[in-house]
Amino acid sequence: MTPPRDRPTALPGRDRLLPAGTLWPRIRECSARALESGALKPIPAECEVVSDGGVDFQVRIAANLHEKIREVRAQQEREAAGETVDPFADPEPDLLVGDLSATHYALLNKFPVLAHHLLLVTRAFEDQQAPLTAADFEALRTALAEMDGLGFFNAGRAAGASQGHKHLQLVPLPLGSEDPQPPIEALLRSRDLAAGPDTSPRLPFPHAACRLQPGADGDELLECFRALRAALGLTDFTAPYNLLATRSWMMLVPRASERFDGIMINALGFAGGFLVRDRDDLANLRRIGPMRVLQGVSGAIEE
Ligand code: AMP
Repeated sequence: MTPPRDRPTALPGRDRLLPAGTLWPRIRECSARALESGALKPIPAECEVVSDGGVDFQVRIAANLHEKIREVRAQQEREAAGETVDPFADPEPDLLVGDLSATHYALLNKFPVLAHHLLLVTRAFEDQQAPLTAADFEALRTALAEMDGLGFFNAGRAAGASQGHKHLQLVPLPLGSEDPQPPIEALLRSRDLAAGPDTSPRLPFPHAACRLQPGADGDELLECFRALRAALGLTDFTAPYNLLATRSWMMLVPRASERFDGIMINALGFAGGFLVRDRDDLANLRRIGPMRVLQGVSGAIEE
């Protein structure tokens, strides 16, 4: 991850600002077009439920990760050769949904496992490990207002990020079942959370969470985020963490490691969603237990 420091994105001017109410139809329209052109490369996956510790984890078994792995390796090789690689500096036009604000644009994830997976990317380069700002949360709020979903952020490689250019992410809810909340809600019980920093006594990994006020703006969301960081004692901004947020709650989980027992997760793991490469990996995950993986990567237990 050696992204450019000062280069603004090569995006066109502010003519793509999405008018209110157009994000969702635009995502659908772009997805259909990008599928047709081949720019969008969805990863087909079967979903199995693995129940563990009171959560029905959704484990997706990818049918074909080859193309994504090829692209990731190619990027790593170019970076190892000293090249700067930033796919978000010059996004593929077919994947570009439009500008959410003066500072952020919406891009379709090129390799989605979940349909309509959106990336909320800073127009000018910012490091993925730079502190989140009111503008980041304003972009998230704008997108969430139009697409009910689960927003998340992988702060750094150890938190599951693969790109160094700052991007939040948003996937539509429900995640796969009929339940409008992600699987972790069985333990999180977000309705019982306080408006200030709180914890859910049932969750067996370190976290801080709060309920959100309806209509909270970017500044208010930033305040909540800062309060959760303070509650966890996360003073060092380079420390990896995962952020999860819906329209009604926000949760922060500190990361101790990128993987546990060979299993790598990003923020979606803490929502109750896992992705594995094949059935051998699924068997391995069942043996270890998804909850132990969450405890391992967040430092609650050691390998
Ligand atoms: P993360 O791995 O959490 O940093 O999220 C970055 C996401 O960007 C990954 O899920 C990739 O599938 C996606 N991605 C990689 N290259 C591109 C690209 N050129 N355009 C759009 N999305 C991409």
